[in-house]
Amino acid sequence: MSAKLIDGKKVAELIRSQVRDDVNEWVGSGNRRPFLQVVQIGTDPGSTTYIRAKTRACEDVGINTGTNRLPDTVSAKELKRIIRDYNQNDEMDGILVQLPLPNHLSSHDVIESIDYRKDIDGFHPMNVGRLAVDQPSYRSCTPAGIFELFRHYSIQVKSKHAVVVGASNIVGSPMAIMLSRENSTGKATTTICHKFTRDLTQHTISADILVVAAGQPGLIKGEMVKEGAVVIDVGINRVADETSKKGYKLVGDCEFESVMEKASWITPVPGGVGPMTVAMLMKNTLLAAKKSIYPDG
Ligand code: NDP
Repeated sequence: MSAKLIDGKKVAELIRSQVRDDVNEWVGSGNRRPFLQVVQIGTDPGSTTYIRAKTRACEDVGINTGTNRLPDTVSAKELKRIIRDYNQNDEMDGILVQLPLPNHLSSHDVIESIDYRKDIDGFHPMNVGRLAVDQPSYRSCTPAGIFELFRHYSIQVKSKHAVVVGASNIVGSPMAIMLSRENSTGKATTTICHKFTRDLTQHTISADILVVAAGQPGLIKGEMVKEGAVVIDVGINRVADETSKKGYKLVGDCEFESVMEKASWITPVPGGVGPMTVAMLMKNTLLAAKKSIYPDG
């Protein structure tokens, strides 16, 4: 078998175009243009690249945006004061603090200081908690984007065995919650694996749907994948590549060629899950502007 490619770039463009139309309609009906406030702490090049992609996407769909760049020495107190101001600013619909943070700042504290009604990343415990009890919430953008891919390609989730490799708060855990819990889109029997999982292959080999978000290039090889599985490779890893001008290339967590031989569907890296994450952020920001999730907020 040779897997078919899941074209995240194409599906993300469809979603962005839908958001663009919705924003036009929203503004055309006399409402304020949605606004996303971004906060960057320090000068990490990865964060700068991600923020550039997000702010360009905002411009593309007609969402206004601003980025506050703070030094990596900013204190927790000062950062929380800034976020408190943003929470109270009625002109700001969504607040995004780009992760990772410098070591002296706790991402848990910073995320919790954001008003959950403006938490368009879907990382606040209120949103994660509501997700876990299958109530409307801002859904973490990467897993939400993966569900849009399932929908677009008519990939059935219900009653399948889904295995998620990686249990982070921003990708693996919400992905596993959505796969197992959500009535409308989920209801897979779900296994979640992490660094302490013994014999990873024993789990991955039985997956009908395998989602890999470990940040480990080449972790999943063809022999670890069931024939005909749907493989979603979330990983984005830089590996040295002398043939590239930049000196590196981006690869996922799967050994692409060997996994391709076993899977029925696979997401490429780049061009798979990545563009979906950004598209779903646009969708969440529009939901925040419309107060669709928290009407009283
Ligand atoms: P984290 O480092 O926060 O989490 C990695 C998770 O993988 C942890 O739960 C860890 O286990 C687990 N893990 C690590 N090594 C192994 C292993 N050998 N076997 C099993 N589990 C393992 O990473 P993120 O979740 O933030 O990101 C994961 C990857 O996805 C990265 O490459 C990142 O760049 C990418 N990413 C891509 C996005 C996209 O839009 N495509 C968006 C966000 C992230 P433990 O919990 O035990 O530590």
